[in-house]
Amino acid sequence: MIRPVPNARWIRSARTWIVLGVLAPVGMLVVSGLMLLDLRKDAYDKADQTSRNLLQVIERDIDRNFEIFDLSLKAIVDNLKAPGVASATPELQQLILFDRAATAQDMGIMFVLDERGEVVIDEGALPPRKGNYADREYFRVHKARPDLGLYIGRPLVSRLTGERMLPFSRRISKADGSFGGVAYGSLKLTYFSRLFDRLGLGQDGAINLYLRDGTRIMRQPFREADIGANIANTLNFERFVSARSGSFIGTSVRDKVERHYAFTQVGDLPLILNVALSTREIEAEWREKALVIGAIVLALCGLTIALSLLFGRELRRRGALEVELSRLSLTDALTGLANRRRFEETVERAWQDRRRGADALSLLIVDADHFKRYNDRYGHAVGDEVLKGLARSIATSVHRPIDLVARVGGEEFALLLPDTDQEGALRVAGKVHDALRSLAVTSAGIEAGTITVSIGLAVSAGSDDGDPESLYRRADAALYAAKAAGRNQTKCALALEEHLSERMLRLVRG
Ligand code: GH3
Ligand code: MG
Ligand code: MG
Repeated sequence: MIRPVPNARWIRSARTWIVLGVLAPVGMLVVSGLMLLDLRKDAYDKADQTSRNLLQVIERDIDRNFEIFDLSLKAIVDNLKAPGVASATPELQQLILFDRAATAQDMGIMFVLDERGEVVIDEGALPPRKGNYADREYFRVHKARPDLGLYIGRPLVSRLTGERMLPFSRRISKADGSFGGVAYGSLKLTYFSRLFDRLGLGQDGAINLYLRDGTRIMRQPFREADIGANIANTLNFERFVSARSGSFIGTSVRDKVERHYAFTQVGDLPLILNVALSTREIEAEWREKALVIGAIVLALCGLTIALSLLFGRELRRRGALEVELSRLSLTDALTGLANRRRFEETVERAWQDRRRGADALSLLIVDADHFKRYNDRYGHAVGDEVLKGLARSIATSVHRPIDLVARVGGEEFALLLPDTDQEGALRVAGKVHDALRSLAVTSAGIEAGTITVSIGLAVSAGSDDGDPESLYRRADAALYAAKAAGRNQTKCALALEEHLSERMLRLVRG
């Protein structure tokens, strides 16, 4: 038998390879999963950075323009207090009160209302266009709150031009502090759309400008219905007002699209600006990569598992083959009994065990009588049949698992009976003779009772000094004696000492 190197046994184990073949792909999956997650995070980090950069640029633009427009309003309020302005001609008033900012591209209308809401000075017309604005929200707010400063109202449609405007205004107070009217300006919403138009935010991306009360001032891409809508009660808006700036992932109430939101307050104005990029689009490039990498990794894992399963199966088959080979190498092909090699190994082991336990070990050598005649008369094939019958009969004569029945020569068998004394061994020999009485090969005309054997028996007690060979020689000598005494019988060997002196005697006699 080919014996594996002991410390390499685990390498040859099918289970090792199957476990490795599963663990390695699992490891591969985990590592590539982590890598993909990292790539995904990178995609979001990039989107976040881009959004923040955009926010910064837009915020700066809006903040600067509002500052300029607010300065114009402040100038109106302050200049009205200057001596002589109130009594100056309308032409002069117009010149003094409205600076060049009022003529900027996106500036809508600028005028001064008196405490009743009537237009008294109009940047765009002389004499001023008639109109009463006491009903407008900004008018009422300024009237009620002297300390308000700059007020930015909800988007409205101008009564004069029909355009959408964002109103901003400051209160005019009289010398005694009482309400004296409103300095008003409006910014066309086209300012924001022009500002936002240049930005590419993908198909589902958007940029929004809100008043702090939740009113949407502008959205890009533009849709009429979005302007003026209020989202104050949404989860997203709560997040917009929870910090000066930040980012998060949320789902839009407007269209149920999940987006990455980066937001910021615009300067110190009550405005909130956000850039919203669809998560689907942020992940699109990553997803493509992930699909390819995932498919390759999965294929490799599948291949690894398949190969290790195959390898494991092959190892298992080889293992089974080795077991079978080693069994065959110890078995006699004709009779299926143990062969001489196994017999010798077993005798050696039994001898060691006997030494330790000091028990008797019996050996029977069984030899067919006149076997040559069967061959000569019926042919070799029938001879083989007789041998098989002999083997079966001998095998049925012992029952203990530790007993060994072996074919040790052509028509010669051995029975090794551990823990068995002479009396027990003789009983087994008797059983062999009995069993053979019914052995016949009817196909060849060999009748029951014609096949006989002679048996030589040797017993070794634990106190013997000899070796397995001397036990065998003594049994063989007994067998010879049985043949000489007329065959079909059992003879017991002499004790070791007698056996030795007998041999000496024979040597001396020559
Ligand atoms: P005895 O033992 O009674 O003195 O006579 P024997 O005829 O059995 O004598 P011997 O032991 O000399 O002969 C053994 C014969 O067994 C020789 C051979 O023809 C035969 N034989 C040995 N092995 C086989 C075998 O595998 N198959 C067959 N058919 N015959 C075998
Ligand atoms: Mg023989
Ligand atoms: Mg013989």
